[in-house]
Amino acid sequence: MKEDLQKVAEIISNSKSMIAFTGAGISVESGIPPFRGPDGLWSRCDPKCLDLDYFHLNPKDSWLAIKSIFYDFFGEAKYNGAHKVLANFEEKGLLKAVVTQNIDNLHQEAGSKTVYEFHGNSQKLVCLQCGKNYVPSEVNLDELPPKCVNDKKILKPDFVFFGEGIPETAYRKSLQAARNADVVLVIGTTGEVMPAATIPTEAKRNGAVVIEINTEESNYTESITDFFLQGKASEILMEIDELIS
Ligand code: NAD
Repeated sequence: MKEDLQKVAEIISNSKSMIAFTGAGISVESGIPPFRGPDGLWSRCDPKCLDLDYFHLNPKDSWLAIKSIFYDFFGEAKYNGAHKVLANFEEKGLLKAVVTQNIDNLHQEAGSKTVYEFHGNSQKLVCLQCGKNYVPSEVNLDELPPKCVNDKKILKPDFVFFGEGIPETAYRKSLQAARNADVVLVIGTTGEVMPAATIPTEAKRNGAVVIEINTEESNYTESITDFFLQGKASEILMEIDELIS
């Protein structure tokens, strides 16, 4: 492991177009569990509440679950060392972009500037009628579903529901960054959610070195990973950051 960390630090230092691809695991140390597993978000929320058709038919019911998870619970979370190291890498010119599957806004809060949000962002609400955007703090979530001040139509969190497409710009820019990348850091993701899961594979196909950080093996480990660093995202990334500085 020590030797791998040293080698990975060298690869990162010499990279020209590195990207990071992150999943729910990078936010676990911020107190946000992944969807799956015994303490996962699915144990708190019925997945149907995040289905677009169900949301349209039962907005109040969906919003009750959405509020309790994504605003009452996520709202307390703060970025951790892993988010911060990625923001530092970008500031030092070592990282071109973060492609994230997460919707928690923690990369931006840690200081990352170029973040492609594959699944949108919970910290934005949008009117389904006129498209007006809101931040959650401007909206009264005591009365559900929340409504637009302009036309009194329902607001939806601006993250991707089941049955919705990937935001077009984020998809295109993520693919472009993956195809240009010489290194991809794959952090805290099982690689099971499509089409997001194709981003590291696309980078590998174009010659990128794949460095994976995860507490457990993922779909990538045996197939495309060049360096598997097993452990918590913040601990491993902070060690690499120290070796680089
Ligand atoms: P996942 O739930 O499928 O997998 C999480 C991965 O993180 C696992 O491989 C696990 O081994 C790893 N992990 C757990 N703790 C870790 C740690 N401390 N350090 C490093 N790795 C750790 O997550 P996914 O692959 O991202 O897919 C689930 C989908 O759920 C995503 O599309 C995402 O949009 C969404 N989601 C987002 C959030 C969030 O915004 N924080 C939270 C839950 C789910």
